[in-house]
Amino acid sequence: MWLVFARLTADTCPNMSEKKSFETARETLKQLTARKLAPTPGNYKSIYNEIAGIPAVEHFPAQELRGIAASLQARTPGQQRQKGLLESSIERMNWDGVRAALVAYASFAGGSGNGADSVTAGAVPPAAVVTDVPVPLGPDFLAQMGRLVEYLQPALGADDERFAEQGKQLVKALKQPGFDLIEVKQLLVNYSHRLSFAAEDQAEVKSTLLRLLQLVFENIGELSVDDQWLKGQMDSLKTASEPPLTLRRLDEVARLLKDVISKQKDAKQKTLEAQDEMRQMLAAFIDRLSQMSQSTGSFQEMLEGSARQIESAKSLADIAPVLKEVVGATRSIAKDTLLARDELQNMRLQANTTQAQIAKLHQELDRVSTQARHDPLTGALNRKGLEEALEREISTVRRKETPLSVALLDIDNFKALNDSLGHAMGDSALTHLAQVARECMRPQDTLARYGGEEFVILLPDTAMDKGIEAMTRLQRELTRKFFMAGSEKVLITFSAGVAQVAPAEAGMDAIRRADQAMYLAKRSGKNRVIGS
Ligand code: GH3
Ligand code: MG
Ligand code: MG
Repeated sequence: MWLVFARLTADTCPNMSEKKSFETARETLKQLTARKLAPTPGNYKSIYNEIAGIPAVEHFPAQELRGIAASLQARTPGQQRQKGLLESSIERMNWDGVRAALVAYASFAGGSGNGADSVTAGAVPPAAVVTDVPVPLGPDFLAQMGRLVEYLQPALGADDERFAEQGKQLVKALKQPGFDLIEVKQLLVNYSHRLSFAAEDQAEVKSTLLRLLQLVFENIGELSVDDQWLKGQMDSLKTASEPPLTLRRLDEVARLLKDVISKQKDAKQKTLEAQDEMRQMLAAFIDRLSQMSQSTGSFQEMLEGSARQIESAKSLADIAPVLKEVVGATRSIAKDTLLARDELQNMRLQANTTQAQIAKLHQELDRVSTQARHDPLTGALNRKGLEEALEREISTVRRKETPLSVALLDIDNFKALNDSLGHAMGDSALTHLAQVARECMRPQDTLARYGGEEFVILLPDTAMDKGIEAMTRLQRELTRKFFMAGSEKVLITFSAGVAQVAPAEAGMDAIRRADQAMYLAKRSGKNRVIGS
């Protein structure tokens, strides 16, 4: 490597002896190390020249230029002349000469109408040489440019009609054979001027659209706070839509959006269904509540109002405040209802108790009432019952003008029976008598216990003699139906007086007459019946 540099330096200094060059090269290397310079050809050359005392002269690439000159064709006399001038300028290391010869050569090449042919195929002209030389433009090159503009046009949008028109004109000119190069150049200048604005606009439109898309995704994400799935999808969409955009990423955005839209549709449907269901439930609930609280006017009105609001609600958010009001009012009514329920239960219990008490009272009353008219031991009417029955019978017979007889009987020697058999047996004897009397009496006849062992029998439609007959029958009957005191047959006899109620006579007066007749029967020897 260093040898190459040394040789290069020696080439540029042909008068220097080989020995001196070698020493200078060695010193140059030392200096490079001492000055801690990078061992580049430039640094080497600079230090070498400094040590050798050579003034800093730009390197002249004579070798390369000779190669270029050799590759130039010399078809025309002008080209031959310029090629010769170039070669001599290279040998003299005269840059100005080299430049002038090349420019002149190029003008001869352009004049031929086919500049490309003037450069040998495969040869690459040095950049420094071609910079100031107009590059000849072939039809293929221009057609390619036309295609480039054509392909570029859709990417720039069709909003700017003037720009689109410019593009078309340029493409047409570039593709047209035998075009006017000056005109095409002017079209290109105009087109590229407008293109710079259009490209800037397109970039701006793209970034603005992206920002908008991000904003939309962000807002949808915020709206769906309750749905974690949707929120996740929106985050993915936001990430996928961040620049730089590629077709692959846009595809992903489209797929995610499709999912989100479908999910949103689904969610909306479910929300509507839930809302409807809730509305129905609430309506039923309020309806039931209003039935429960028909008596509470204000609550009823509030509930009706709430029901109307719920029916017209468009979203769950509209229902929420109404619900709050209903719940509040319901709590208070529930408290009242609870109290009312307790009260009602107490009242019901009380009513049940009262009903039982009333039933008991009725039974009691019935019993008392029976007792009031009947003798509890024998079941026959008591004195009060007798009086009422007597009154009824007297009014009937007076209406029908039929006879009514009353008989009064008194058990003979009852005291003796009590004494011999006991009071209880005496009671049974009384019961037995009443039983036998009822058995042989007609249905319309009435038996009443008048005193201790005295009974009265009312005999409607019965004249006194028939009454005496009836009482005599009962006497006979008692002789056949003994009272059984245990296993002992006891004959119960009685003495009776019978009186027929006189037309204007009070019932009790007739009974008093019968009692007098009974008393006569006693006096007459007992066990007999005497009419009054
Ligand atoms: P006479 O033949 O003159 O009527 O004699 P007697 O013993 O029946 O007459 P008295 O009037 O002197 O006696 C009536 C008795 O009847 C007195 C009383 O102890 C009894 N007696 C009254 N009521 C009842 C009753 O409800 N049950 C019982 N076991 N005895 C009664
Ligand atoms: Mg008596
Ligand atoms: Mg008696």
